[in-house]
Amino acid sequence: MPVRDHDLAGIREAVAKLCASFPMEYWRATDRERRYPTEFVRALTEAGWLACLIPEEYGGAGLPLRAAAAVLEEIQRSGANGAACHAQMYTMGTVLRHCSEAQKKEYLPKIAKGELRLQAFGITEPSAGTDTSAIRTTAVRKGERYVVNGQKVWTSRAEHSDLMLLLARTTPREQVQKKTEGMSVFLVDMKSALGKGLTIRPIRTMINHATTEVFFDGLEIPAENLVGEEGKGFRYVLDGMNAERILIGAECIGDARWFLAKATAYANERKVFGRPIGQNQGVQFPIARAYMATEAAALMVERAAGLYDSGQPCGPESNMAKQLASEASWQAGDMCLQTHGGFGFAEEYDVERKFRETRLYQIAPISTNLVLCYLAEHVLHLPRSY
Ligand SMILES: Cc1cc2nc3c(=O)[nH]c(=O)nc-3n(C[C@H](O)[C@H](O)[C@H](O)COP(=O)(O)OP(=O)(O)OC[C@H]3O[C@@H](n4cnc5c(N)ncnc54)[C@H](O)[C@@H]3O)c2cc1C
Repeated sequence: MPVRDHDLAGIREAVAKLCASFPMEYWRATDRERRYPTEFVRALTEAGWLACLIPEEYGGAGLPLRAAAAVLEEIQRSGANGAACHAQMYTMGTVLRHCSEAQKKEYLPKIAKGELRLQAFGITEPSAGTDTSAIRTTAVRKGERYVVNGQKVWTSRAEHSDLMLLLARTTPREQVQKKTEGMSVFLVDMKSALGKGLTIRPIRTMINHATTEVFFDGLEIPAENLVGEEGKGFRYVLDGMNAERILIGAECIGDARWFLAKATAYANERKVFGRPIGQNQGVQFPIARAYMATEAAALMVERAAGLYDSGQPCGPESNMAKQLASEASWQAGDMCLQTHGGFGFAEEYDVERKFRETRLYQIAPISTNLVLCYLAEHVLHLPRSY
């Protein structure tokens, strides 16, 4: 479905209005207490924003990725922390393309209504790291079930999600021709699995991200919860990645714009030596530089989202969008902290919280080096480095 610029403006306005009912004190408190922002996620769900990518026939809004990007950018621009719920959009890239009609009919209407949350995806493992093909979690078929054993790390929102998209090995690495073959994706009903082979252990981190370690010990999953074909899971996960990178890029643009607004306001209002600090070029120039970097990155995010929505290949653009936007948001965050001087460290200014939160996106879902490796190998045709 095409989306016009004025539609996007309307989406931004509506999301901004919703976010305005969650004041900064709300985000400070949830951050301080490492509490999941349940009320915010509920409000977004009830307003239909978290189902915006779900096709209308399953109860969603059927909007394109550009619209989802506008939603997430606006959440971040308001000062909120959308990491609590963004994965419901990221996971759609895999679900919409590869789940069977029966699976879509079973889950999507319930997700759209807010009866089920699909906020967790388990790919990363402690020993495999970025080398996904080295995952050790196995799913072995036994009749009409798969039996899962292994461990995931950094499985975010696992305690607050009903469903998890899980990547596991169904054929040992030694028995496949290409190491990326032999992995499969499953939809795991986490609520019924808890205590029956699934254990979740929270990890306290420098940000409020509700991330966890997940352990599988003989967990049984019905065979019908396999997504697509057995052994093709890596491909399915890759298919979802462009959408994820673009959406994260949009979130970073939102963060950068929040930092820019916050810094310019403070630079105009704070007086030292009898004049606004923003009158000094030493303060103005980093703000102007961060603004340029943000606007340039925003163009790449828009370009990647436009290509994605028109069904064209967009791997390089999605990766560049995520990288440029995460670097721009970090540059803007650093500038904003510096502009605030000592007050940047005070919780009540929210700068230190956003500074911590935006740093994640140079590491997750893929670290900067690996984006550079991708561009070097696949776009510039340099030798593969790993
Ligand atoms: C808060 C948080 C939430 C997360 N949420 C999720 C989630 O919900 N689901 C999920 O599956 N994962 C999640 N992740 C995991 C995240 O995707 C990984 O942390 C990320 O992909 C990097 O993997 P790693 O931590 O194992 O780093 P490693 O792979 O161990 O890499 C460590 C460093 O070495 C560099 N490096 C490694 N190999 C190379 C190479 N060949 N060339 C150059 N540099 C290299 C990397 O760039 C990185 O800087 C989350 C992580 C965090 C921190």
